[in-house]
Amino acid sequence: MQDIILLKQGEIVLKGLNKKYFEQKLISNVKRRLRSLGEFDVTCTQSTIYVEPKSDDIDMDETQQAMTKVFGIAAVVRAAACDKTPEAMAQKAIEYMAEAMREAGSFKVETRRADKAFPMTSIEVSQYVGGELNEAYPNVEVDVHDPELVVNIEVRDLAAYVHAAPVPGAGGMPVGCNGVAVTLLSGGIDSPVSSYMIAKRGVRLIPLHFFSFPYTSEQAKEKVIELGNMLTEYCGRMTLEIAPFTHIQEEIRDKCPEEYFTLIMRRFMMRIAQRVAHDTGAKAIVTGENLGQVASQTMEAMASTQAVIDLPVLQPLIGMDKEEIITIARKIGTFDTSILPYEDCCTVFTPKHPRTRPKLSEVERAESVLDIDALVDEAVKGLEEVELRHE
Ligand code: ATP
Ligand code: MG
Repeated sequence: MQDIILLKQGEIVLKGLNKKYFEQKLISNVKRRLRSLGEFDVTCTQSTIYVEPKSDDIDMDETQQAMTKVFGIAAVVRAAACDKTPEAMAQKAIEYMAEAMREAGSFKVETRRADKAFPMTSIEVSQYVGGELNEAYPNVEVDVHDPELVVNIEVRDLAAYVHAAPVPGAGGMPVGCNGVAVTLLSGGIDSPVSSYMIAKRGVRLIPLHFFSFPYTSEQAKEKVIELGNMLTEYCGRMTLEIAPFTHIQEEIRDKCPEEYFTLIMRRFMMRIAQRVAHDTGAKAIVTGENLGQVASQTMEAMASTQAVIDLPVLQPLIGMDKEEIITIARKIGTFDTSILPYEDCCTVFTPKHPRTRPKLSEVERAESVLDIDALVDEAVKGLEEVELRHE
């Protein structure tokens, strides 16, 4: 007999008429995530998704862990299996809820009965199990109106189950229900976090990385692939687009005034990102920009970067402190990889004195010597695709 897992839906339960759409998306994301873990029955009743393993060799700890990373789920509940007899249910509740019962001042039992042929009603099960619990923990009062602890019992087809206390889910909205965006993924600390945050709002992501071989190494690319693989735990399957950026950077270095290097380079990133968005149906571009962090992240600099595209630029980290960003990076497990010391294309040819308050017209003049369209075309033609997946 295997435990089962119950997934409590998050804010999508507040949705009105299109709730079904969000729910379907969530269920299909859950099923996709379960595929590599074994065979499961996945059903949904009253905003709760039931995940029931079909065989005894499935690792339910691993399954539970995976389910805490699916966006759209507010809480994950592990439910322990027992025989479908009142005695077995009571015994299981006494053991499984021991710690919670010792801490609670009052409790009640609530029973749901999916097996309608079960000979006792839900109320009878609750009364019986409640009585036994009360005998085992005489210091905890029964309070059916406002109990500190609710002990949940489920009588289902295969077995009966006692719920453990819920653990927090990943929150957010199901990936894919709020469209598609291109996310600019460097090897740094910030962009994995910005990607995570936008995926959390239900957006499917297309990560795009700019690669400047040989100025940035094969290891730097591997690092970005590893970060992307880590993100799939939350974001689902993704295809990383790698854009060759060397020729563009060399052209800028050779032909443009040094103080504008970074700004011009970032304008190329945006143009290429918009082309990728256009080809994939994405409707926004995500970056890890953070106000005032570096010279290219002042308001003037960002205005000049964004002037070359029409799509909205989503910058979820814009108002956060570095410490807050690092806290999330640690939580999602990307931090240790992000701090590996490989160079990024942004650190190649950095100007000694970058312009922090550039005028758009000056940047435009500085880059006007370049054949912009041809360079963008060349980078788009050279895109390399890497399928990302969790290890
Ligand atoms: P990060 O920690 O994400 O590298 P950062 O603080 O180093 O960010 P910048 O290097 O100025 O900031 O880059 C700002 C944003 O531009 C990044 O968060 C990322 O979204 C994007 N970006 C920078 N370099 C690259 C790259 N090589 N490929 C793709 N996107 C990039
Ligand atoms: Mg960077």
